[in-house]
Amino acid sequence: MMKPSSVALLQALVALSLAGLSVSKDFDFFYFVQQWPGSYCDTKQSCCYPTTGKPAADFGVHGLWPNYNDGTYPSNCDSSAPFDQSKVSNLITTMQKEWPTLACPSGDGVTFWSHEWDKHGTCSEEVLDQHSYFARALGFKTQTNILQALKTAGIQPDGGSYSLSSIKSAIQSGVGYTPYIECNTDESGNSQLYQVYLCVDNSGSKLVECPVFPHGKCGSQIEFPSF
Ligand code: 5GP
Ligand code: 5GP
Repeated sequence: MMKPSSVALLQALVALSLAGLSVSKDFDFFYFVQQWPGSYCDTKQSCCYPTTGKPAADFGVHGLWPNYNDGTYPSNCDSSAPFDQSKVSNLITTMQKEWPTLACPSGDGVTFWSHEWDKHGTCSEEVLDQHSYFARALGFKTQTNILQALKTAGIQPDGGSYSLSSIKSAIQSGVGYTPYIECNTDESGNSQLYQVYLCVDNSGSKLVECPVFPHGKCGSQIEFPSF
């Protein structure tokens, strides 16, 4: 006969392992989205540079967004876990550089990062806590040098017009995965390269091919504005 305390321990272990098995991640993959500042700033929306200064002429992180394979996505999953700057204090300098805010009024980035955490980050807390969420996104930014991939293929942010297919294949060659390109329009109505979507597996650990792409339309020739 087992001692009652051993029985209780065994029951606790069984309960824990069942709970572990039933923890399913409530999303299928992440979109990792980067934005071209030139295409945010030359629109009717207009932009404001962050209080920390004009960002570099480089793609910046927009967000890391949990998503379902059917194209829908969860949002604002945990109001009890608001953005807490003290949890990412060692990342702030890098976030200012790689994840700059362009919205008006000018800010230091905290409003943008809080929004991304509250809306998207709280939906992947079972795999990435707040520090890991931001650290992982910054890691993918470094890993996927979009601007370098485009430049290598002769595609420069020079206000020129490039074929959408050449942009996609340049990123595919440089980064190793097929991107989704989101366009917006400049003040004259030209279709331009705005955001680049890549996909990450649902543990937030590696890039994968996207299971599904967002809907949207670019022209077959799009502008790559300067910044
Ligand atoms: P828009 O309507 O401008 O495309 O997107 C507005 C916001 O909705 C995005 O910045 C993002 O927060 C969210 N969003 C849009 N499309 C998707 C998507 O396919 N997946 C996820 N997870 N969020 C999206
Ligand atoms: P989404 O919901 O589209 O992920 O996030 C967009 C929200 O973040 C909007 O409320 C927008 O005003 C704010 N925001 C702050 N900075 C930026 C930025 O640099 N780019 C974009 N797209 N949105 C920003």
